[in-house]
Amino acid sequence: MRFAPCIEERDMWYIVSIIFGGMIGSFLNVCICRLPKEQSIVWPGSHCPHCQKPIRFYDNIPLVSYFLLRGRCRYCKRPISIQYPVVEGIAILSSLFLIMRFGPSLSFLFYFAFIAALIVITVIDLYHQIIPDVISLPGVGVGLLASLLVPEITFWNSLIGILLGGGSLFLVATLYQWLFKREGMGGGDVKLLAMIGAFLGWKAVILTILLSSLIGSITGIFIMVLKGKDSKYAIPFGPFLSLGAVISLFYGESLIRWYLYLNR
Ligand SMILES: [Zn+2]
Repeated sequence: MRFAPCIEERDMWYIVSIIFGGMIGSFLNVCICRLPKEQSIVWPGSHCPHCQKPIRFYDNIPLVSYFLLRGRCRYCKRPISIQYPVVEGIAILSSLFLIMRFGPSLSFLFYFAFIAALIVITVIDLYHQIIPDVISLPGVGVGLLASLLVPEITFWNSLIGILLGGGSLFLVATLYQWLFKREGMGGGDVKLLAMIGAFLGWKAVILTILLSSLIGSITGIFIMVLKGKDSKYAIPFGPFLSLGAVISLFYGESLIRWYLYLNR
């Protein structure tokens, strides 16, 4: 028996992806807090929302600092939102799963940018019931342009994805409004699904609509049971579209194959 002389290259990329995911996750938290207020995301540095004290770099280590400080500000001891470690943790896991799937490649960066956008959109939609255009609209453009560079998706698949994503949800939203005389889905959802189409292509758009409607309905029923039958309680749809898109990204091919197998 002998010891491995050094860590393998693959393991090194895993470590790099964890650090990278944590750093980006930390930045996403800043975007989540500042974009809805239309504040700059680069200046000033992070500070405690209660006592306004700037956060030192050693208190700003993704995930680690939250646990070392036991979820409290070093100065005023008031609680730090659970949003910070949750977003950082999800960003780290996404980065790790993507490097396992795509290796250190342009595709890794492409899909990580996509998931990062979905994380910011999801949390802002949960807090404020809006999907900021400053993320979804550039996302459509980035997805379409990047389709020229990565092998996973063709330009035409991306373009049809945008049209199908934007178009189909627009139809559903209009139909819903016509039937129930109130707005069920916002224009933000339409632009989000166009972005999903740009990154994942048209098949994933259909799968994302199916998955998010299914998961959204089940969650809706749960909330109605818990909160009473007030169906006017609006659940934002963006988080379900985002979740559906991530499932489509990782398991889309397998789900479609499984579905075709069942229907032979
Ligand atoms: Zn404080």
